[in-house]
Amino acid sequence: MQFDIIENPHPVAQDRRREILADPGFGVHFSDHTVIIDWTDDGDGGSWHDARVEAYGPIALDPAASVLHYAQEVFEGMKAYRHADGGVYTFRPRANAARMNRSAARMALPQLDEEAFVESLEQMLAVDSSWVPEGEGAALYLRPFMIATEAFLGVRPAREVSYRVIASPAGNYFGGELKPVRIWVSRDFTRSGPGGTGAAKTGGNYAGSLAAQAQAAEHGCDQVLFLDPLHENAVEELGGMNVFLVTSDGRLITPQLTGTILEGVTRDSVIQLAQDRGLAVEERRVTLDEWARGIEDGTIVEAFACGTAAVITPIGELVDGETTIASPGTGEVTASIREELLGIQTGAVADRHGWMHRL
Ligand code: PMP
Repeated sequence: MQFDIIENPHPVAQDRRREILADPGFGVHFSDHTVIIDWTDDGDGGSWHDARVEAYGPIALDPAASVLHYAQEVFEGMKAYRHADGGVYTFRPRANAARMNRSAARMALPQLDEEAFVESLEQMLAVDSSWVPEGEGAALYLRPFMIATEAFLGVRPAREVSYRVIASPAGNYFGGELKPVRIWVSRDFTRSGPGGTGAAKTGGNYAGSLAAQAQAAEHGCDQVLFLDPLHENAVEELGGMNVFLVTSDGRLITPQLTGTILEGVTRDSVIQLAQDRGLAVEERRVTLDEWARGIEDGTIVEAFACGTAAVITPIGELVDGETTIASPGTGEVTASIREELLGIQTGAVADRHGWMHRL
């Protein structure tokens, strides 16, 4: 794909950028550029056009743009790390490209070639590699997204769509230490149901999780665990992470993919790394009762959550109304799979699966 490059005439001053990179936080600062590819359907099945790199800035949208009314949009999230060889690498970008296309299919948005997706990330780094923070666990968070831009208030798939990439420097999520999180079990809200949009990475799923997140915060919890509305007490996932349990005999248990939870790239990678070690991984229905019983009788020894932002985080406590299920603490399996995965991502551990892609 041919990209036009229009460099930002007013990039962030070097001193200010250095200041930001020294303490980037998460999702609050943005690099100097954005990548854009537009899509139009003139009745011919549609095509991508006007691929370009531009200055980061506000989007001019018609107030009738369908994304603003019917939330026809999807997004992705991934990280780019600077390795010791000086190169900037991202993790399994084709997995994110494929997932974006599955999300797009569900939300009646067009398919973007995996090659074009990866190229869009390469273009982003070609202009903004100076925005990749240094330091343990620090990364440039990449946020590709696709929005329906057509000005039309009827409810049908938009005929004008825009794909974009923005980049945001991110610090070490938990300041380097493995701090177990406290999780709130949502009894008032569910995230998804059969035939719904749970497996799509689309904005509405996250808007719908905010009221549950607010309840979690009121109860001193960091994140929400959503349950399967059809199967009593069956665990689905957190608002932004997948869940694993580890048994005393070295098995990993994680809820199976039924179309209601997001297929995490980290989840898939954890399964692979666990199997590499000879650990059995069970993808199946798992209930809160099994979790609580397992903690009580010692057959479940660790619990952790995983996702791009925090990679792997131990689950300390699970608060279910008046009941609290407390995990024994950060276990060995959690810590060592985390170390290996983070090592691969940051270049400290050999990339035997060919997961890293140099941007
Ligand atoms: N579940 C949900 C709902 C998420 O938003 C995320 C973050 N993308 C995940 C799981 C973890 O996915 P990944 O490992 O691809 O970041």
